[in-house]
Amino acid sequence: MDPDHAPAGRLPRSLLFVVAFLLAIALMLAWRAVLVERNLASIIRDVAETRSMLASTTVALEAEIMAQQQLLVQLSDMLYNSQKAITDIAEELQDYGRDVGKLSGSVRDLEKLTTTDPQLLQKYSRVYFLNEHYVPADLMVIDEKFDYPNGKEVSIHSDVWPYLEDLLDEALDDGVDLTVLSGYRSFNEQATLKVDYVVRYGTGANTFSADQGYSEHQLGTSVDFTTNVLGENIDAFGETDAFVWLTRNAYKYGFVMSYPESNEYYVYEPWHWRFVGEKLARDLHRKGKNLYDLEQREIDKYLVDLFD
Ligand SMILES: [Zn+2]
Repeated sequence: MDPDHAPAGRLPRSLLFVVAFLLAIALMLAWRAVLVERNLASIIRDVAETRSMLASTTVALEAEIMAQQQLLVQLSDMLYNSQKAITDIAEELQDYGRDVGKLSGSVRDLEKLTTTDPQLLQKYSRVYFLNEHYVPADLMVIDEKFDYPNGKEVSIHSDVWPYLEDLLDEALDDGVDLTVLSGYRSFNEQATLKVDYVVRYGTGANTFSADQGYSEHQLGTSVDFTTNVLGENIDAFGETDAFVWLTRNAYKYGFVMSYPESNEYYVYEPWHWRFVGEKLARDLHRKGKNLYDLEQREIDKYLVDLFD
């Protein structure tokens, strides 16, 4: 029987092959499509997973950044507070330094006060007088070119000499005839002098020569000036150019006239000048006052500056 001539109603064999072939291809394509679809689904899943992973990572990173930013803010706060604390400490140190400065100033003042003889600014009167044993801490003989040439040495408190020397140098420069007749006198010298005055002038001597014990000469800070013209006769000293010069200049060197004209305490002694320190002498000169016009407690405030 001819294979190409199949009986009617039956498909030819070749056609069957074609159909089978096409069917196989279709099956293959379908299978392929299924595989592709599966892959695609897997890829989509992967992408979704990756996306969610990325999203969570982003959130975590954002949180981390935020935490770091907070830390940075905290750190800068800490830094600011530290700087403030350092500034505060520096200021405190400065205050402390100032206090230490003040304190050492006070200690210096205290040292000066304990080493400065309070008698040197004491007012002397018939009520308050110097002990007969009182002798200044340190005496020295003044340069003989400044003492009146009567063969007697003139002694003075050593700390006062630099001031007196400056005064005498300045007077010399100004062409003023000024010389020192008398400086320190001991209690006994004063007593002898007083007896001599009483013998010569009777009890009237009280008004022009201090009783021994309250003479400012016993302090070693007072001097009697004269001129080469007057010599030892100093009664007219108040009319000399030297006196006028002293009234204008002595205060600059810390000297004041203890008993000016018409004072209430003692007879007028234009030749007798006492060292009270530059500050007190300047203040007295400015206010037009005398040492004996001030209260003792007011005078005592100047003790610390006596030899400044
Ligand atoms: Zn005198």
